[in-house]
Amino acid sequence: MPAIFSLLGSGGWIPTARRETTCALLSLPEALFIFDAGTGLSRLLEEKLRPELRAGREIHLFLSHYHLDHVAGLAYLPGILKGRTVCLHPPAAEITGADPVEILGALVRKPFNPTSLADMPVEIKIEPLGEGRHEIAGVEIQARRQIHPDPSAAWRAADLMVFATDTAADEETAAFARGARLLVHEAWIDGKEENDPATEHIAREAYIAHTSARQAAALAAKAEVGQLVLCHLSPLRSDAYHSQMLLAAQESFPATRIMEDGEALEL
Ligand SMILES: [Zn+2]
Ligand SMILES: [Zn+2]
Repeated sequence: MPAIFSLLGSGGWIPTARRETTCALLSLPEALFIFDAGTGLSRLLEEKLRPELRAGREIHLFLSHYHLDHVAGLAYLPGILKGRTVCLHPPAAEITGADPVEILGALVRKPFNPTSLADMPVEIKIEPLGEGRHEIAGVEIQARRQIHPDPSAAWRAADLMVFATDTAADEETAAFARGARLLVHEAWIDGKEENDPATEHIAREAYIAHTSARQAAALAAKAEVGQLVLCHLSPLRSDAYHSQMLLAAQESFPATRIMEDGEALEL
């Protein structure tokens, strides 16, 4: 099954000129799977990505959670996918503790947005998914609850990819991602901070909600995935810091990379 992975938004929290907030694409012959609707969803308007929107394929949009850097792009749907049908898959209430239909209804409505999801010129179907296995457009999709101040979901699409963002480092991610060709995992800090008393508080605060590059690499090695892509990079860190994160991760998992927005990988 030819599959192309594209990272549309490689940043977390605040979009920058270089890195929009979280959005990833898995392009399959029969379906387009989008993971999170951060500001990176806007990159689908770019010339080189427009062919991804060709008619005749189902479009499924999976949400990790409702923090705004992961859902801001829902407001862009009429501009990007007018006339199409989009099947929205938020995590079920058993994962987040909150009713997904109620939350999405509250998030996208007047006066925050000119229309509600139901009134958009895009046909939106909401199909929440709980933990376990599901079949979506003929592909096995799995979800699991992660550790985040507002719990998030990790997603797995067959043996192709696992998308795990906005989560503290979680040993169970290794089992969930076992043998996948690609693990897309957040990395908010390097991780070296935890070994220095002067910076240890940075790690302690980050680890309540997020993972370090070193922790993500350890999970990738344990899961024996094919490749690791670090995502949800901090807008508060320099390019040099991100390069150092990458080197640190590659020490324990050499097949680690950081991608630019719009970059693609064949799986
Ligand atoms: Zn985030
Ligand atoms: Zn979050």
